[in-house]
Amino acid sequence: MMRLDVVSLAPEALAPLLKLGVIGRAFSAGLASLHLHNPRDQTSDRYRKVDDVPYGGGAGMVLKPEPVFAAVEAIPQLPRRRVLLMSPQGSLLQQSDLRRWASDYDQLVLLCGHYEGFDERIRSLADEEVSIGDFVLTGGELPAATVINGVVRLLPGTVGSADSLLDESHTNLLLEHPHYTRPAEFRGMAVPQVLRSGDHAAVARWRQEQQQERTRQRRPDLYARWLDQQE
Ligand code: SAM
Repeated sequence: MMRLDVVSLAPEALAPLLKLGVIGRAFSAGLASLHLHNPRDQTSDRYRKVDDVPYGGGAGMVLKPEPVFAAVEAIPQLPRRRVLLMSPQGSLLQQSDLRRWASDYDQLVLLCGHYEGFDERIRSLADEEVSIGDFVLTGGELPAATVINGVVRLLPGTVGSADSLLDESHTNLLLEHPHYTRPAEFRGMAVPQVLRSGDHAAVARWRQEQQQERTRQRRPDLYARWLDQQE
């Protein structure tokens, strides 16, 4: 069982995860549990203030440290816990991170920023800072949902067959080969003959070639790393 705690000013943005196909079923089957925490519930002033103007001036509001620290400190702590802070300044999320978090931890705490960002001291709560790409969103909820989706689908029991996890893109350095299903011809587009040949060795060879060719064309960076690994 993986415990997931999300600290967010808009926790309702995470609720749809519980209804989302295989991920939703993993939660209802008890493979993972989702706990939402709003720093606003930790405020004691009349206005329930969670943000303030930046020292030194400038545009935008900054998330205050006290309610976020209080929210994190109120979360029960399991022995193998990792605190992840969502930030466009973090290291770029990789499939290998998702694998590591799914296998090495029984609790992930995900901290979502808002406004102009966090008071810098909030960073001290985190073990890792995670970015989902070189772009900026308004809050950390979609990045947190992305991490949760990616981690939960790796938990044993979530995705039907472990084989489908082994083959897919980013598991080794190559992207996955193309897939086809019936009909054999659709609007003039035919399924490659080899896939209909029944020759398993030929199919395996074709898939391997497709993987290499796709990766070379679409992701020369991954292809170069894969070539290095072959030596
Ligand atoms: N001013 C901040 C900066 O330049 O680093 C950006 C703040 S952004 C508007 C508000 C929050 O959204 C961030 O604190 C973070 O939690 C989340 N966020 C936005 N883009 C993200 C990304 N690419 N990856 C992860 N989190 C992101």
